Amino acid sequence: MIIGIDLGTTNSAVAIWRDGRAELIPNSLGHTLTPSAVSVDEKTGEIMVGLAARERQSTHPDLTATVFKRYMGSQRSTTLGKASYLPEELSALVLKSLKADAEAHLGQPISEAVITVPAYFNDKQRKATRKAGQLAGLKVERLINEPTAAALAYGIHELEAESQFLIFDLGGGTFDVSILEIFEGVIEVRASTGDNRLGGEDFNEILVNAFKDAKGSALPGWNDPEAALVGERIREAAERARRALSTEDSAEMSVTWGGAVHSLSITAEMFETKAAALLERLREPVLRALRDSGIRAQDLGEIVMVGGSTRMPLVRKTVTRMFGRFPANRVNPDEAVALGAAVQAGLKARDVALKEVVLTDVCPYSLGIDVADERPDGSVRSGLFSPILERNTVIPASRVESYFTMRDNQPVITFGIYQGESRNVAENVKLATMKMPVPPARRGEIGIEVRFSYDINGLLEVDVHVPRTGERKQMVIVDEEAAAAPDFEERRKALSALKQHPREHDANRAALARAARCYEKFLGENREYIAHLTRNFETVLEKQDLKAIDVARGELLQMLDGLEGETWL
Ligand code: AMP
Repeated sequence: MIIGIDLGTTNSAVAIWRDGRAELIPNSLGHTLTPSAVSVDEKTGEIMVGLAARERQSTHPDLTATVFKRYMGSQRSTTLGKASYLPEELSALVLKSLKADAEAHLGQPISEAVITVPAYFNDKQRKATRKAGQLAGLKVERLINEPTAAALAYGIHELEAESQFLIFDLGGGTFDVSILEIFEGVIEVRASTGDNRLGGEDFNEILVNAFKDAKGSALPGWNDPEAALVGERIREAAERARRALSTEDSAEMSVTWGGAVHSLSITAEMFETKAAALLERLREPVLRALRDSGIRAQDLGEIVMVGGSTRMPLVRKTVTRMFGRFPANRVNPDEAVALGAAVQAGLKARDVALKEVVLTDVCPYSLGIDVADERPDGSVRSGLFSPILERNTVIPASRVESYFTMRDNQPVITFGIYQGESRNVAENVKLATMKMPVPPARRGEIGIEVRFSYDINGLLEVDVHVPRTGERKQMVIVDEEAAAAPDFEERRKALSALKQHPREHDANRAALARAARCYEKFLGENREYIAHLTRNFETVLEKQDLKAIDVARGELLQMLDGLEGETWL
């Protein structure tokens, strides 16, 4: 069986195709969303993934990692306790945990997965995601773009008529807009744009600033040892208030410091006024996607909302105003991508219940090489970008361009392979370098043909041919930085050797982590009560009486829910 995985920045989810439908798989806590967070236990060295890890973010920031998807494909490592991890390794730990949840739920080992990636992910980021899957012991059957997955969850592949859709995906930290077209059973991504610095976090920032403005001089100074912690608490209060404003007309932000509770009441109207500039920023990527695809807004079949932040009424209102009609919300916005990945997994497994669909995507960035240009005065300007595959070319695609020598008897043509949109290669991402020997001749006489083939998984193959000599060189882009990284097999073994927190204890661990966070957050009687229930819970845990453990945990969580509201995912 192949599982479908949404490996998200904030949360991840896993689903399968079973009995003719896509179905989400709950984790060990019974939740369908698993926070993309990893934490290490300071005493046992055990790795925790999901809610328990996220709960430790404010109490153990040095031992906890989140939002690592942002750095996927880079060599930026995070040190947690004694070891350091690359983004793909942290992602592998999340994938491993989802794999274990699927195995526990289905009662069978799982070794294959379809994993989703943002449409704008470049080659390096896709490769790193694939590697994360392999490190987790999964054969990555296919990487599919998140908007394509969302479209599959909406059953767009089953439509008979030709139609176009806009996928509006506002997550925790990114905003992605894609336009898809379905034509005779083929789904094509016609355009993909976005703003990778716009999401729920920016809306939190508005409430954080409103709170800080209101409290002004009462806030701890920057040199106060409590300052960082208070900052984190204000952010958490902002997130909580913002979520409350999705269903209520007003919400309260309460933060404790200096022995007192400081509160601010926020109304939905106030929030909307303050968020006006952010809401305006949602417009530009939508217009760009329409422009790039040459599709008119009125010709769009549906506007599909994806990503947890589209739950905000002010976002829905903005979208409704932008298009003059209501967006679709038949599928939960934070579950659509995982469900769609499961639809793709079902297609892959050739389930008879699904019609055969061909998926095509677009190349998210322009791909090309660097060239030099001779100015009229004879001087040479190098480092110019010559695109071979342009952004938004439908893939799979293969294009060839010819280039010529610049000097007499030039022995070799050397060029870099780049991804990006700038005319100046220095501002684009360098993927690799290639060298092609050429026979001696006068300048401009020897040509080489450079063919770029971009496949459906977003992997680039470069083929260079010298027609004069018949010599050929091929290269599947190897990530130069990754080549310098420690050996893959070694890393896989090292990750497998990590002690994982036992799955059956996840719920207890998450409850204890939350209690520890709340103990720091509350004061006075509440604090004493938290300490009392935590002690009680720990005593029961030691006795290993499962029934009593469930009761004590329930009591503790109920009290914490009463104090701060339910935990969110
Ligand atoms: P995603 O990346 O799709 O998991 O989305 C995560 C973002 O969705 C976070 O910024 C959350 O704050 C936001 N989110 C989730 N649920 C809600 C809600 N009910 N109201 C407002 N924002 C939400």
